[in-house]
Amino acid sequence: MDKHERLKVAVQKSGRLTENSLDLLARCGLKYTRGKDQLLCYGENMPLDVLLVRDDDIPDLVQEDVCDLGIVGLNVVEEKRLGFLARGRAPLFEQLQTLDYGRCRLSIAVPEKMPYSGPASLAGKRIATTYPNILSKWLADRGVRAEVVVLSGAVEIAPRLGRADLICDLVSTGGTLQANSLREVEKVFESQAVLIRTPVPLPPEKEDWMRRMLVRIDGVQQVKESKYIMLHAPRSALPEIRRLLPGSESPTVIPLDGLGDKVAVHAVCRENVFWETLESLKGAGASAVLVLPVEKMLA
Ligand code: ATP
Ligand code: ZN
Repeated sequence: MDKHERLKVAVQKSGRLTENSLDLLARCGLKYTRGKDQLLCYGENMPLDVLLVRDDDIPDLVQEDVCDLGIVGLNVVEEKRLGFLARGRAPLFEQLQTLDYGRCRLSIAVPEKMPYSGPASLAGKRIATTYPNILSKWLADRGVRAEVVVLSGAVEIAPRLGRADLICDLVSTGGTLQANSLREVEKVFESQAVLIRTPVPLPPEKEDWMRRMLVRIDGVQQVKESKYIMLHAPRSALPEIRRLLPGSESPTVIPLDGLGDKVAVHAVCRENVFWETLESLKGAGASAVLVLPVEKMLA
């Protein structure tokens, strides 16, 4: 296949999204070798290469049609999108699907001693952030006039350095805030990893691979939490057992030879199965309960 017919996927080179993103592609069946320059992973068994870049560059690479697909935080996508809208242009990437990792929130945090009683408390203050577009929109929506101080990193130490009064930064556990004596007071934006693609139509073969990858990514996402449950139960207990099986579609019911009224029930559950559920199933009359991980799923 011609070089230009290979799908290019942009992934963060080294950071919080890297491991999960490469793992996702591997679960989709991709086997790759990492190039000498460490920038390109060459897909060995699919016409698909992975470009490893800074996360902030991913929307642009997709936008400029250098990459066909990108995996990046919704926070980065939204910041870019608002930046484009502010300049009267539409962003040239399409958001396809959210992925179940990279969860965090963009929050406003104030020094522990600063009083805070709502957005009005921010009026006239200097707020340090690397997300000026998202923050400015949030402030404007609430009619708050504050000074947005744009930094490129190390936002959490800006108040101590006297560069700002408070910050607006990404938080997941809150540990960094605590370590810097900051208190989270507003959640401005919730984020997780997302898949974006170029809106430019691709040559048919490439488009076909893109479609196949999307189906596989969807399958991988569904499988993560899914379990296959097998159990024995008296037929009369079936309604209660069906009610207890978390997120399952119609189970398969199989008669058991020589066991009279007893049947075997097999079901795929789209949610994790906890011990509590197993105990309830047993209480409802189930026995010989087995829970197996699901490896692949194609809806
Ligand atoms: P790069 O060198 O690629 O620019 P970075 O320092 O901007 O790296 P990371 O800190 O690795 O990026 O974060 C990448 C993405 O991970 C963020 O944009 C966000 O979507 C997500 N993320 C999840 N949890 C957090 C968190 N606690 N702090 C920051 N980002 C988080
Ligand atoms: Zn970055």
